[in-house]
Amino acid sequence: MVINTNKQSLSQIPVRYVKGVGPARAEILKRLEIETVEDLLYHFPRRYEDRSKFNPISKVKAGEYETVKGEILTLGGHRTGKGKSIFKARVGDETGAIYAVWFNQSYMKNWLKAGDKIILYGKVERYKDIQITAPEFEVIKEEGDETIHTGRIVPIYPLTEGLSNRGLRSIMKNALDKYLGEVEEALPAEIRARHNLAELREAIGNMHFPGAEALRQAAYERIVFDEFFVLQLALALRKAKIKEAEDGVAHKVGGELSESFKALLPFKLTDAQKKAIEDTEKDMASPRPMNRLLEGDVGSGKTIVAAYALVLTVQNGHQGALMVPTEILARQHFNNLNGLLRPLGINIVLLTNAVIDEAREEANRMVEDGTANIIVGTHALIQEGVKFRDLGLAVIDEQHKFGVDQRSSLKEKGLNPDVLFMTATPIPRTLAMTLYGDLDLSILDQMPEGRIPPKAYWVGEERRQGIYKFIAQEVSAGRQAYIVYPVIEKKKDEGLPARGGSASGGKAATEMFAKFRDEVFPRFKVGLIHGRLDDTEKERVMSDFKAGKAQILVSTTVIEVGIDNPNVSVMLIENPERFGLSQLHQLRGRIGRGNQRSYCILLSETESEQAKKRLKALISTTSGFNIAEEDLQIRGPGEFFGIRQHGLPELRYANLVSDVKQLEAARKEAFNLVKGDPGLSGPGHSLLKAILKRKFAGRFEIKA
Ligand code: ADP
Ligand code: MG
Repeated sequence: MVINTNKQSLSQIPVRYVKGVGPARAEILKRLEIETVEDLLYHFPRRYEDRSKFNPISKVKAGEYETVKGEILTLGGHRTGKGKSIFKARVGDETGAIYAVWFNQSYMKNWLKAGDKIILYGKVERYKDIQITAPEFEVIKEEGDETIHTGRIVPIYPLTEGLSNRGLRSIMKNALDKYLGEVEEALPAEIRARHNLAELREAIGNMHFPGAEALRQAAYERIVFDEFFVLQLALALRKAKIKEAEDGVAHKVGGELSESFKALLPFKLTDAQKKAIEDTEKDMASPRPMNRLLEGDVGSGKTIVAAYALVLTVQNGHQGALMVPTEILARQHFNNLNGLLRPLGINIVLLTNAVIDEAREEANRMVEDGTANIIVGTHALIQEGVKFRDLGLAVIDEQHKFGVDQRSSLKEKGLNPDVLFMTATPIPRTLAMTLYGDLDLSILDQMPEGRIPPKAYWVGEERRQGIYKFIAQEVSAGRQAYIVYPVIEKKKDEGLPARGGSASGGKAATEMFAKFRDEVFPRFKVGLIHGRLDDTEKERVMSDFKAGKAQILVSTTVIEVGIDNPNVSVMLIENPERFGLSQLHQLRGRIGRGNQRSYCILLSETESEQAKKRLKALISTTSGFNIAEEDLQIRGPGEFFGIRQHGLPELRYANLVSDVKQLEAARKEAFNLVKGDPGLSGPGHSLLKAILKRKFAGRFEIKA
């Protein structure tokens, strides 16, 4: 006798082994990315229809979807005058009779015979008689037999051409009958018990053919938990792996340079900044490489924290790098850091693609021989020719704008340098847990003292002249203003599809710039900046504006990040319905940076409900953390800044808005498990390890 101990996992059994799947269907299923039995079992319904409640035939109502059960009394077919074939079954129960009617489906006569018990589901109509046209139906062979298309909560699947729900349901039933018993439970029993989770077999069965709504709900919770759990395990393992490396840079904390830096600051650090600096110091002091995310609202003062960390690495004889996504930001940071650190004798070098020829060679040389203590730049930093003498700390600002490879490229310019990531705006907690779950987190949830949060208003066209007057008033009082447009120039076809569905298209920056300069504000100097200007041009416009050479700056969203001109007291945003909520918040963050009152005015006539929600949210809070949560609620996780580019898998089943509880539970359990068994080598963990290897091959380097 041969005992097959080498049982194949369901992820290796081709789907054509399932009864009802021939070569043709296998091809069709492939289009749904179903190639194995496991793929099939995890192809869950997109919704369900409750066809479990039978109505006596005499009680059914025209216009309603009804489920009835009866006996086929008579069958018959005929052709209409127009050549259509009609097939009818008269079905009766104790209370009455109804017709089931099919058009051009004469083969129905092969499937049904008088005397059969049958369940019908569909929309009831009344012509001469009461009837259901083209109903879903199921013939009951024996009383008590399980039905799958009617008479129960019925699964409705995502389909593809050539595959019907009826067909897929039958295949699914066959697959479950044969293979559900072979589904292996990967989740440790104590975790299941702690969170009251259904067994996996039960959950998969109930996802497809739930006996009751409560069972479906329990099944869903289990599946969602699994999805989060596997992801969090991967993150926990990655974090553990980074932490176990002991060959990073152990910075010595404290010293003349860092003390003078603190002493020279023209303001008092907020408690949040102090705490973030402490966290960072601790990480940097350790030989384990720092892997920390600094999150904070616009204007919360992240730069100071980064600057301090950079000083610390310089003080220890290493170099620090600050990488940002755009040329403008690079220059901005370069100027800021120069202002802060030049007095300490720290040498800062700018390295971007706009730095060329001799200047570039000079920069490269200084990076290589160590004359450059701090290097600020764009992607140019990670080009091949750039060689650091000794990189101790890499800071990556607006890190979501970089790909995974780019982030690690910078890191590879040194030997396990410490890494500090920064985000420009807060991101929702659930997203942070999934996207950056392997990073340690410092949060700046406090604004510097003396800041007056900008007032925000949402007004209509009738206020336009009043707003212009107000801008003139502020400018006459020595302040400055931004006027922001969603597009550079109006296109003939009205440009971008209006986000809020407004038919008016977007007002264009260039066109309005001319109008402001010549008609509206002839007494003032008006500047224009947009993304099509080359970098030196942009730089010139920005510095002129900061120096007060222009009082009003007309712009597109290029001013979104990093621009710091505390003298600006008004921002007028035209067609704000075209912007995302976080983007609006980011824009608003450009004002309220000084100690005068500032005003953000949204001029919009939008009719779109979604857009109205965004505008309302913006004027109702100044907290970027609240905004981020709200944005996630409104837009949904898929839309919230391109999740895919972060190199993490999309969530197939779980929802970051509604499944927060499962996420938190799964995260806690996953990190706990890895803490106790960092190699996943313990008894009962081998299956988890196999799943991780399969799911994250090449993406997470799970070597555990
Ligand atoms: P963000 O977090 O948006 O990057 P920045 O670091 O650019 O914010 O800081 C915004 C402004 O606030 C800068 O002009 C900075 O000098 C100033 N700032 C930072 N920290 C403080 C503080 N503790 N007190 C007063 N002003 C501060
Ligand atoms: Mg900043």
